[in-house]
Amino acid sequence: MERKLVSVQRVDHLEPIAGADNIQKARVMGWDVVVKKGEFAPGDPCIFFEIDSLLPEGAPWAEFMRPRGFRVKTARLRGVLSQGLALPISILPGAVPPHGTDVRDVLGVVKYEPALSDGREISGPFPGQVPRTDEIRLQSALGVLEELRGHDFYVTTKLDGTSATFFRPLEGELVACSRNWALARGASHPAWRIADKYALDTVLPAGFAVQGELCGPGIQKNRLGLTEVELFVFSVHDTRTGRYLDHAGLIGFCAEHKLRTVPVEHVVTGDAARTFDHGLEHYLKLAQGFYTGTRNRKEGIVVRPLTECHSPTLGGRLSFKVINNDFLLKDED
Ligand code: ATP
Ligand code: MN
Ligand code: MN
Repeated sequence: MERKLVSVQRVDHLEPIAGADNIQKARVMGWDVVVKKGEFAPGDPCIFFEIDSLLPEGAPWAEFMRPRGFRVKTARLRGVLSQGLALPISILPGAVPPHGTDVRDVLGVVKYEPALSDGREISGPFPGQVPRTDEIRLQSALGVLEELRGHDFYVTTKLDGTSATFFRPLEGELVACSRNWALARGASHPAWRIADKYALDTVLPAGFAVQGELCGPGIQKNRLGLTEVELFVFSVHDTRTGRYLDHAGLIGFCAEHKLRTVPVEHVVTGDAARTFDHGLEHYLKLAQGFYTGTRNRKEGIVVRPLTECHSPTLGGRLSFKVINNDFLLKDED
């Protein structure tokens, strides 16, 4: 399921920024975003662009972003955190579409990708039976908090490496994939080295896909300070049933096959789950902190129910990420 990178939303609230004459702080979904003064009144529709929207070159409405390479990033303006971009609905051609409409394609926006894969490294498309790895940002899907209420759940550390999927089809050989592609065996991508290290072609039961974060030297900034590349599993998918293993299933699977999981920070059950503060502010606090044993800020957390749940808000598995705002600012991500 693709999240809505660019959609029709509403400016719920506006407030002045001390010492600033031309800008205001607006609230759109769960996001605080700085807007031009006078461009919106509370309740107005807007076009909201999430972080990592790459605006089209050549569109007059996007021209002001040229100095920033057309990429929407987290910024701090006059001391106010601004995440995303809100522009007037008038940039859209034609009639105003309904609230929530995805307008990424009509506006020609794409998601910023840090690096495109080299053609020689790829052996084919990402396998169709396996869902790609992705997590929605909590601030874009506040409805998930109501959906999580009353469920036992767990919180893992979001690792800042690169996504890998290992799939053993019912027939045929192991496939190792990056976020979007099946990788050639000789590729310089570390996924195949990990596949060999864990003998995944024999260890993985047929029909299963293991998904995790590759971390280590040469990957992002190696914030875990590892001396060699390691795989931290966050999902196991059974393609025969089309379902993910639940938390206990994943822990058991990894123990059995001697795989590591992403760090589990909290498992919240029973009374603690019933009385848990599911407010945005609380989650933003939980997302703060450092990778254990390092002085490196963690990227954030990922939250999921212990038992897999369907989320009506997401139209898929109930699972979301909360990015550490300190991390976003430091890395201008
Ligand atoms: P970016 O391109 O900015 O790095 P991303 O590829 O990390 O983005 P996001 O949408 O930010 O994608 O986050 C989802 C990704 O986070 C997943 O695809 C997965 O690779 C990674 N991830 C890291 N730690 C975890 C975790 N504990 N649970 C689930 N996913 C995780
Ligand atoms: Mn994503
Ligand atoms: Mn990432």
